[in-house]
Formats: sequence, C-alpha cells, structure tokens
Amino acid sequence: MKEPALTLTAGDRSLTVQRDWCKGCNLCVQSCPAGILSLDEGERIVVEDISRCIFCGVCAARCPDFVFTLAREWQPQVAMGGPA
Ligand code: SF4
Ligand code: SF4
Repeated sequence: MKEPALTLTAGDRSLTVQRDWCKGCNLCVQSCPAGILSLDEGERIVVEDISRCIFCGVCAARCPDFVFTLAREWQPQVAMGGPA
C-alpha cells in the first residue's frame, strides 16, 4: 500500500520523507552528520529524532531516489524604520 510522504518539522524548517521511494541503500544513513537516520526492518528509511537534524541537506544530496525534501517556511521581513 502506498504510504503518504511524512513531513517532520523543527521550528521553521521541515524535512519531507517519501519512504515509499527508499530502496535501503544506506547511503544517507552513513552520511548524516547528526546520526539520526536508520533503516527499519523493511529496509526503509527512518528519521529517529528530527529535533537533532541540522538541515544540512546531505541526505537529500546523497539519496539517489529523491526521498528527502528540505524546506524553510517563508517569514515576512519587518521593516525597521528608514525614510517614510
Ligand atoms: S538534513 Fe542533514 S542532519 Fe538532517 S537528516 Fe538530513 S543529513 Fe541528517
Ligand atoms: S539514500 Fe535514499 S534510498 Fe538510500 S537508504 Fe537513504 S533514503 Fe533510502
């Protein structure tokens, strides 16, 4: 059965994981500098603790199957004075 993409958030950042597309190659697990990725018993990717993710993008860069998407919520900038 198709599994919907999982979106994990921490502050204004998010990591979307399309687990269905994971082939269990382990490349991202070995590359994640935070050490928060692993494979479950079905050889599919698991993000163990999104609060420790540094949103470096290494997983997205390494994955040959486009499992990961990083995003940052847009925050409107507040004008701090200047000419009227
Ligand atoms: S963005 Fe970086 S720290 Fe976060 S899961 Fe991917 S490789 Fe690990
Ligand atoms: S690099 Fe991609 S396909 Fe390989 S284990 Fe990680 S998420 Fe799965």
